[in-house]
Amino acid sequence: MNTPPAMLHPELLAPFDLHAITRDGHRLDHAEGASKPLQSCPEPQPLGAKIHGSRPIDQTEAAARFIAAPEHEKMHDERLWDLRQKRDREMHGIAEWEELRALASAIKEHTLTHLDEYLEQFEANARSHGVHVHWARDAAEHNQIVHCILSDHGAKSLIKSKSMLTEECGFRHYMTSVGIEVVETDLGERIQQLDNEDPSHIVVPAVHKLRTDVAEVFAKTIGTDPANSDVHYLAEAQREATRPIILAADAGMTGCNFAVAETGTFVVCTNEGNADLSANVPKLHIASIGIEKIIPRLEHLAVFIRLLSRSALGSPVTQYTSHFRGPREGGEMHVVLVDNGRSERLGLEEFWTSLKCIRCGACMNTCPVYRRSGGLSYGATYSGPIGLIIDPTFNQRKYSNLPFASTLNGSCSNVCPVKINIHEQIYAWRRLLVERHETPLAKRVAMKAAGELLSRPAAYRAAIAAADVALAHLPRFVIYNGLNAWGRHREVPHPPKQTFHSWYQANRGGKQ
Ligand code: SF4
Repeated sequence: MNTPPAMLHPELLAPFDLHAITRDGHRLDHAEGASKPLQSCPEPQPLGAKIHGSRPIDQTEAAARFIAAPEHEKMHDERLWDLRQKRDREMHGIAEWEELRALASAIKEHTLTHLDEYLEQFEANARSHGVHVHWARDAAEHNQIVHCILSDHGAKSLIKSKSMLTEECGFRHYMTSVGIEVVETDLGERIQQLDNEDPSHIVVPAVHKLRTDVAEVFAKTIGTDPANSDVHYLAEAQREATRPIILAADAGMTGCNFAVAETGTFVVCTNEGNADLSANVPKLHIASIGIEKIIPRLEHLAVFIRLLSRSALGSPVTQYTSHFRGPREGGEMHVVLVDNGRSERLGLEEFWTSLKCIRCGACMNTCPVYRRSGGLSYGATYSGPIGLIIDPTFNQRKYSNLPFASTLNGSCSNVCPVKINIHEQIYAWRRLLVERHETPLAKRVAMKAAGELLSRPAAYRAAIAAADVALAHLPRFVIYNGLNAWGRHREVPHPPKQTFHSWYQANRGGKQ
């Protein structure tokens, strides 16, 4: 068995113990779920979507696997719904919430329609503070630029804070292929890195994992006790294992939440302060910034800061809102402004407003499909409602099934702090994908047949009457078989003795 890290406090080394960590006789409860009893035989973590090159991702198949793991599904659903409720409480605490949303949306809309001007302004102001500014057309160029910067400095190790843009660029895999060690400093992201998995949520990357999953990952990778899944113990063990790597790193990398054109500064929001570690411990700081992260003025920042954390986690503000202006003394700062399909998206009439997204994750937390299927079931960098409208812009064929993973209930649009009409864009993608024959043949044939039937009232009524008779008399195996996906998890309702139409004809004679 692996030996637990030696620097841990002794009480944390004990297997799970309700009284292990106390302050004034009370167990610390700042880490949610820390005090729930362990199960004797933990449920294995369900795997995410199977990925085969550019073949369409089968989200339904991966979602079924997640649903078949009841403890994971329940925990995931409850944890995210809890975030949604906290978000609602925060929202009700701000009388001008809707005005803030409207303002944020308008600022983003204005910026996106003047993006070239603001990007140039940001570049000029950042350069004036001694920042090196680079432009990357796509993911490959981004990775090469960062590689060149690191090579110029002889850097062999890089610590980085969470950044969805770098996930989008496949950055970690690229760096591994060129022999540079990358270590994530965000706890959730580090868990995912150690488990060789992508983040399953844009704000809480390991939200789909139970404590026992994390204990298993850490036992295999950093040598913790596999029987101890106390969150304090696990967090502390991870800290002890990662801190020496952080302190010895040659370079640091951050993403960016907002880049301010008028000042040439950028802002990173975290709850762990890990962006500050990544930016300030090594002398070389590289920031990857998607071009849509620009906002015109510093005063606009306040609008977004008030919305971001409240929408994301239901907390008034992130613990750290760090502003970066230029290299510290003796250091060097590089900014890589990345397009990677954003300019093209800006030209898509129905989808360009998806660029307003501030990556808060509120649409994911509220989505009934996402909550019950887990982020990894989408097989894409971005999951949940925002993923459904962004992913097909990266690869229409591969992500052609995703826009169908939605109930179109509109809750995502209602919670979005920048008022993106998410559910309407999901619907628009469905229409487009059908027009472009990107949906499976079986679905196309079924929809065409349904369209024909629904457009002929007499044929429709005859079909309904025939189906009612069939449902009442056919043997069970004819109705409940592999072809009837609807009946796999529920009973088909008993057909009524009389349809509404025939009742209406009989009782009202068809008159109003
Ligand atoms: S689409 Fe809106 S709700 Fe969803 S992550 Fe982006 S900003 Fe947040």
